[in-house]
Amino acid sequence: MAGGDGPAGRTDAAAAVAVRFRELYGAAPDGVWAAPGRVNLIGEYTDFNNGFVLPLALPHTTVAAVSRRTDGVLRLHSADVRGGVARLAVEDLRPRSVTRWTGYPAGVVWALREAGHAITGADIHLASTVPTGAGLSSSAALEVVVALALNDLFELGLSGPELAVLAQRAENAFVGVPCGVMDQTASVCCTDGHALHLDTRDLSLRQVPFDLAAVGLRLLVVDTQVKHALGDGAYAARRAACEAGARALGARSLREIPYARLPAALEQLAGEPEDVRRCVRHVVGENHRVERVIGLLDEGDVRAVGPVLVEGHASLRDDLRVSCAELDLVVEAATAAGAVGARMTGGGFGGSAIVLVETADAETVTKAVREAFASAGHRAPRVFAAVPSRGAHRIN
Ligand code: ADP
Ligand code: MG
Repeated sequence: MAGGDGPAGRTDAAAAVAVRFRELYGAAPDGVWAAPGRVNLIGEYTDFNNGFVLPLALPHTTVAAVSRRTDGVLRLHSADVRGGVARLAVEDLRPRSVTRWTGYPAGVVWALREAGHAITGADIHLASTVPTGAGLSSSAALEVVVALALNDLFELGLSGPELAVLAQRAENAFVGVPCGVMDQTASVCCTDGHALHLDTRDLSLRQVPFDLAAVGLRLLVVDTQVKHALGDGAYAARRAACEAGARALGARSLREIPYARLPAALEQLAGEPEDVRRCVRHVVGENHRVERVIGLLDEGDVRAVGPVLVEGHASLRDDLRVSCAELDLVVEAATAAGAVGARMTGGGFGGSAIVLVETADAETVTKAVREAFASAGHRAPRVFAAVPSRGAHRIN
């Protein structure tokens, strides 16, 4: 991981990847692009139910230096992974044919070509400050930075949301990870000082003001640095349970169930397995929580968001059962130390939690979380501030 996160850090990172690109490939890159990781304020396990999400982009980015090629060769290199330059033929790209990290950028090339765009090869070198595997979407940042660079270099004229959908297709169909479209859309479409209200049913979006510094608040990300193996199967199982619930209710997706209908829907599901009922309660409740948070942000009542975050965590812990001891401990320790609110974020079973705090309390709360982790014998977490940042862009 290289470079800082402020504007100066981004310029440094861009210069560093350009220099390394020249060392690797023998010429200056055609351009340098950046795409951020993201954290989701609220709206968890809703995106594959056609529901609402509310992510914000992090100041942490994946920066890629890229040149166009016309001979069908794709060369890939990452500063963050040991190993030399990978060389692939674009003609030979098939779903799941490329393993490890190169599957993500190769998948983007494949998805663009599948969509009828004549990508004739590229040289790519990248470096990232997005923590990997922490639920902060380093994979989406990687896909999006490549998609945006190729869109510019091959003059494809695709819109941001179109690039996000193609990047998601790369991850779903080529890499084989069944993620929703939130991560890629956030990485493309977020703006400074805002959270992004994305309706995953029609991909409509709205920038919701989220200028925390102006109201004396801070959003901390606590990366637990753990990843429990349980996660992979659990995601698929929750997804299947949600689909079963929607089917039993005669709905295309759980998005169709309004919050006011939840009690009746649960009654209707009396004969269904308990996990289906729990998933339905979570998803319908979570969509409602996103709407509540947006209402509060629009009114400028940012502190009132805190209890909604805590409620969302309880639902993920007790109904969806995708939390873990470390994530629960962040929420417990932070709220006990005076945080305004906290919840796990992302897929769960490890990864990161977010903590909303008064700026004046940020240090006390961070210390309390660290101490709680130490006394529980957990590995020390990484803590940093999530300043709502801009989406993917060309640097030079
Ligand atoms: P997350 O998206 O939450 O960080 P994922 O498991 O979805 O976690 O994606 C992480 C994977 O993405 C890494 O294991 C690696 O294969 C790839 N990746 C992300 N960033 C980079 C990078 N800078 N260089 C190489 N590979 C990366
Ligand atoms: Mg990912």
